[in-house]
Amino acid sequence: MSDCIFCKIIAGEIPNYTIYEDDFALAFLDITPRAKGHTLVIPKMHAENLLQLEESYTEKLLTAVKKTQEKLDKVLQPAGYNVGWNHGQAGGQAVPHLHIHVMPRYNNDGGGNMHSIINNPGSGSVEEVYKLFE
Ligand code: 5GP
Ligand code: ZN
Repeated sequence: MSDCIFCKIIAGEIPNYTIYEDDFALAFLDITPRAKGHTLVIPKMHAENLLQLEESYTEKLLTAVKKTQEKLDKVLQPAGYNVGWNHGQAGGQAVPHLHIHVMPRYNNDGGGNMHSIINNPGSGSVEEVYKLFE
């Protein structure tokens, strides 16, 4: 998409620090890192989110995440990771091109885990919610 900053990064129109690349995905350092080595992995096709991503790219994207972690492991030797993506405005997504955050974690770095993102379980029991899926 012509006005998408991440499409422009893929096209080489905006400079970036690439740490992994293949035919389907690009991994580059986040410009405002929340951890040393904070990396974004993006599909090389424009899709706002996973639901809009062509099926042929989904598996490839996860492979690129794995390759990116291998690279980060080798260079920075983090003690762990948080890996995930913000989906939609409510989920905190600012750039409307799917990007997987790979955040290296280091011992005693002061960060939280996935559970620290949200604590809004609602009023219904888990069983009641499950019944909605039946
Ligand atoms: P979101 O909230 O959409 O998941 O996060 C967007 C991320 O993209 C942010 O962490 C932000 O720092 C990063 N970002 C935005 N613009 C650029 C850019 O031009 N280059 C790079 N490398 N990262 C960017
Ligand atoms: Zn795009």
